[in-house]
Amino acid sequence: LESLDVGAIRDEFPILEREFDGQQVVYLDNAATTQTPDPVVDAMSDYYRESNANIHRGIHHLSQEASILYEEAHDRVAEFINADGREEVIFTKNTTESENLVAYAWGLNELGPGDRVVLTEMEHHASLVTWQQIGEKTGADVEYIRIDDDGRLDMDHARELIDDDTAILSAVHVSNTLGTVNPVSELTDLAHEHGALSFIDGAQAVPNRPVDVEAIDADFYAFSGHKMAGPTGIGVLYGKQHLLEEMEPYLYGGGMIRKVTYEESTWGDLPWKFEPGTPQIAEAVGLEAAIDWLEDIGMERIQAHEEEIARYAYEQLESEEDVEIYGPEPGPDRGGLVSFNVEGVHAHDLASIMNDHTIAVRAGDHCTQPLHDKLGVPASTRASFYVYNTREEVDKLVAALDDARQLFA
Ligand code: PMP
Repeated sequence: LESLDVGAIRDEFPILEREFDGQQVVYLDNAATTQTPDPVVDAMSDYYRESNANIHRGIHHLSQEASILYEEAHDRVAEFINADGREEVIFTKNTTESENLVAYAWGLNELGPGDRVVLTEMEHHASLVTWQQIGEKTGADVEYIRIDDDGRLDMDHARELIDDDTAILSAVHVSNTLGTVNPVSELTDLAHEHGALSFIDGAQAVPNRPVDVEAIDADFYAFSGHKMAGPTGIGVLYGKQHLLEEMEPYLYGGGMIRKVTYEESTWGDLPWKFEPGTPQIAEAVGLEAAIDWLEDIGMERIQAHEEEIARYAYEQLESEEDVEIYGPEPGPDRGGLVSFNVEGVHAHDLASIMNDHTIAVRAGDHCTQPLHDKLGVPASTRASFYVYNTREEVDKLVAALDDARQLFA
């Protein structure tokens, strides 16, 4: 693979030129949200300048144009993740809403006492809290596949837990805390062998590796636009068409119905059945532009670049004696982020020192509190990388550790 022209890529992100206190920003908080390149911002502003109207209901030119743009965005997403068509692509607000959609529309109706929901110990709160709630409401039992000391799933435990009582497996594709890349098609096969469904949280996978939902054979797959060079306010729920057809709507209102009387209503076609009210039209246009932008670079090359930077960061941090890193060693099952702690320094203090150097990292539990409890730490500092990051930026991060030690350790 030809390596990326990172300089040319960075030119499309004016925000990366910003300075605070005379120091250029080093943006290493990409697992929280990625920056948005000019072509995506331009696509959205062009939409507002030239095509803005409400969709579906309009006879007029602008409404027709906006409707076509919105529908085409579904097609583009379907093509990107290899779904069968726009019927399988529901636009939501974010990954969290995609989780809730399935948990409420499917889980609340289908689950009951004696049913099992299998999660992993490294789930993000978006899935963990949601399924916990559905468990409480329905009486279904929620179990967690253990992780081993390296932060990988214990697949023997997975085989033990996923049994004939299991109704759904919900697993994160790439952990936003450990960086672990989970064997999601193996997990999905296990679920299917027992007649269970599989839901994969791809929030940290779709932005930086090729994802093929058909190859994984996931029943549901979720991700967020804002973590893949796209806008906030739009996420995706992929679902197999026959399942989405069988499911009850999750939210009700205009745009999602076929026929309404004072007594009752019937539902519209997919994906509209799950997209009530005025949707995120400009954001859908932005997401489509982000996909075009990512594919122009090439997902394999993006993955290779990110893995290279993450490996470099891992090695630099590992060579520091007082740094503890969480998750697997660099390799095919580690994605582009590194969470760590420096002995004697609280993660929040470390992030604040980093900020003194205009280095953006995240400190906290990264919406994985139970996982941090298991790791035995209240918080960690996370550096997460994207297509525009460089080794020099990693060097700045490592150099700033000395300041933290001098002040706190
Ligand atoms: N799952 C994972 C693995 C994530 O990293 C995130 C974002 N931190 C989410 C779900 C939730 O994404 P969003 O906030 O866009 O709903």
